[in-house]
Amino acid sequence: MNERQDVAGSRRGGLTVADLVVRYPGATAPAVDGVSLDVAPGSVVALLGPSGCGKSSLLRAVAGLEPLAAGSVCWDGTSVADVPVHRRGFGLMFQDGQLFAHRTVGGNVAYGLPARSGTRGRVAELLELVGLAGYEDRGIATLSGGERQRVALARALAPAPRLLLLDEPLSALDRALRERLAVDLRAALVATGTTAVFVTHDQDEAFAVADRVAVMSAGRLLQVDAPAELWVRPATREVASFLGYEAFVPLDSPAAAPLRDALGVPPSGATLALAEGAFVVGRSGVAKGVVRGVSSRRGRSEVRVDVDGIGVVTALGPVGGRWSAGDVVELGVEPDALAVLDA
Ligand code: ADP
Repeated sequence: MNERQDVAGSRRGGLTVADLVVRYPGATAPAVDGVSLDVAPGSVVALLGPSGCGKSSLLRAVAGLEPLAAGSVCWDGTSVADVPVHRRGFGLMFQDGQLFAHRTVGGNVAYGLPARSGTRGRVAELLELVGLAGYEDRGIATLSGGERQRVALARALAPAPRLLLLDEPLSALDRALRERLAVDLRAALVATGTTAVFVTHDQDEAFAVADRVAVMSAGRLLQVDAPAELWVRPATREVASFLGYEAFVPLDSPAAAPLRDALGVPPSGATLALAEGAFVVGRSGVAKGVVRGVSSRRGRSEVRVDVDGIGVVTALGPVGGRWSAGDVVELGVEPDALAVLDA
């Protein structure tokens, strides 16, 4: 029998959250407002959304740290509502790893393991998994921020939790480190087959870590999809805006015509969404625009261009390009930075 069959009342593996509501005393609106979400065994789901949209509240409710005002949280089809936090078999990891400062690295990792022989070997294995082989005897105070979060991850993985809940575990680190750790974090979760829910407000991080990304806004779930699917087919303008799409034009408008051709889609009632970089300055032109300003990021030029019928968008240009406000530039199109919305 197919365990994933979505028949009401059938047993489903992994985490199932249904119609969940979290409400804080005195608050006018619920922090989580009727969220339903499945996390299949061995998969990683990122909760992505702006600060205050209810990501942590949802995670904490799953952990058992917040009461449910309505709805259910099930593991393998059985409600965990009456199971206390420490009996759920769920692991937790936070922004500050909450390590024991007076223990060594090895002591911190071993804390999550049952006392028995073979602990040393298992600690060494976990440290290797997070890229800290040989760190057993180091003091926590001697570690960088990134190394501390690696130790926190090793400790969280040590008891092999059936579900790992990660609340912004990388957000205290600088961007370059965050990018590297996101990749390593995913590798460690995949290598251990860990089922995980990962909270972040950073799209790049969500896309790097998760098999599926759940976009939240104001307590609600807007869309759940694989990263590539989400990027190519954002369900609504709100999701698209959050992902970084910056301009929206009706597909049947004259301004959309050259872009439509690039995508090979016919005019319709749908909307075309343009992300940063949908236009490229200096490539054979499909449109023209007037330069409003120029900046540089990671060596590339970002040219703010006012395109007739579309508005001001961020076009990309080659390193060292020179443009001034008022210049008229030819614009090529980058199809990967375009999406078609149904409405
Ligand atoms: P996120 O994790 O997406 O930043 P949170 O889940 O932390 O969002 O918060 C969602 C909403 O609930 C916010 O409006 C926040 O102010 C509110 N909130 C969070 N924690 C509490 C609390 N302990 N008491 C009252 N309100 C809270």
